[in-house]
Amino acid sequence: MKYLFIFFFLTSHFFFSQSIEDCKQRFHTYLNFKGSLNPYVKFDKKAIHLYTPAGKKDFSIYENELPALISFLQNSTYQEQLAFWNAKSRGEAIQPERKTKLEQGPLKSKTGAKALEGYRIAIDPGHFATGLKEAAYEQKYLYFKANNEKFPNDSVKLFESALSFNTAQLLKTMLEKEGAEVFLSREQNNFTSFNCTYSDWMKTHKTRVLDSLQKAGKLSSTKKAALMKARPYDLFWDFFRDFDLQNRAEKINRYQPDICIIIHYNVDEKNAPWKDFSEKDFTMAFIGGGFTAGNLGKTEMKLNFLRLLLTPQLNHSEELSSKTVQQFHKQLGIPIAKPQDAKYLWENSMASPSAGVYSRNLLLCRQINSVLVYGEALYQDNADEAAELMKWNLNQDGIITNQRLLKVAQAYFEGLKDYVNRKD
Ligand SMILES: [Zn+2]
Repeated sequence: MKYLFIFFFLTSHFFFSQSIEDCKQRFHTYLNFKGSLNPYVKFDKKAIHLYTPAGKKDFSIYENELPALISFLQNSTYQEQLAFWNAKSRGEAIQPERKTKLEQGPLKSKTGAKALEGYRIAIDPGHFATGLKEAAYEQKYLYFKANNEKFPNDSVKLFESALSFNTAQLLKTMLEKEGAEVFLSREQNNFTSFNCTYSDWMKTHKTRVLDSLQKAGKLSSTKKAALMKARPYDLFWDFFRDFDLQNRAEKINRYQPDICIIIHYNVDEKNAPWKDFSEKDFTMAFIGGGFTAGNLGKTEMKLNFLRLLLTPQLNHSEELSSKTVQQFHKQLGIPIAKPQDAKYLWENSMASPSAGVYSRNLLLCRQINSVLVYGEALYQDNADEAAELMKWNLNQDGIITNQRLLKVAQAYFEGLKDYVNRKD
């Protein structure tokens, strides 16, 4: 046990020591959506007590267990965490072991000549459709006749996947110049995280994947039969969307990044079905949290909940996201979203203490096991933004882009550097 504690004192901000009080604060600041977890998570001075959805005591975590548990949760696989949870629930006196793989990643030198030397950074460029056919399945595009002097005789045509991938390429170049090692969750702007298009995935992989999921007992034969027959649109919404997100999280977790940047571009929700422009333009970012009582009945969610409760990842993600949102605001010159600016902010999210940073229980926000920012830099359906985003008139280090995307990439880059250079 002794080496664990020595280890923790030596390892700077990524592993500063945590108390039950820290966990309690995290619970109320980020995790306990509208108080709905009050019956299931209880705190006293030196322990956290977890209850099952049926109201039975599951197990307790004591303050002296925290250092080893934090190390374990940040550096173990889903299967290892599940085995731990089950043993704890059976009342076994289990002591999680520190993983040797922890030695890599966050603790490397970081003292090189370049600002980001030794950092491993994962980037997930959101979505995959860059043509009208696949975009009709995924629904992450804008296409309409523009009745606006900025678009004479022209249409608005924007694919979020193309914008997010381009931003990721620009950001990767910037980070690598500063010495960071960078991993992208997909390799082309029209690829899913399986490194092929959705159409190719359906042709080449669908049958095999659904077969093996059924054999593994993860898919009923009725559901499988329905998915085999489903049209591409329904297959996407009933299965592939989450399957791809899950795969993104798994790839990123295997990479064991210090920091993960998830890149998205927003639209004004009140402007649906997006056949005209919105006057509005806001910037914001998401981090994990915002769990409801129903979430804790699901194994995957309760394991991620435990990690987010015990480790300081959410505090660090709030800091990184806040610095990123401040950079978006500064570089793009658009306002930071307040809770009342969008329904999903006041209905489905928890406002963190930092302006524009919201806890939301999105799959990637809970499953990615690292400090993260899920950025929504701007609204694509704002006329000024759309006009700028449709220009592909700038060559930046061999990447064809535009001023607006370059500014977004710069904002992520500066935000990350502000975060890495912070004093704590
Ligand atoms: Zn998106």
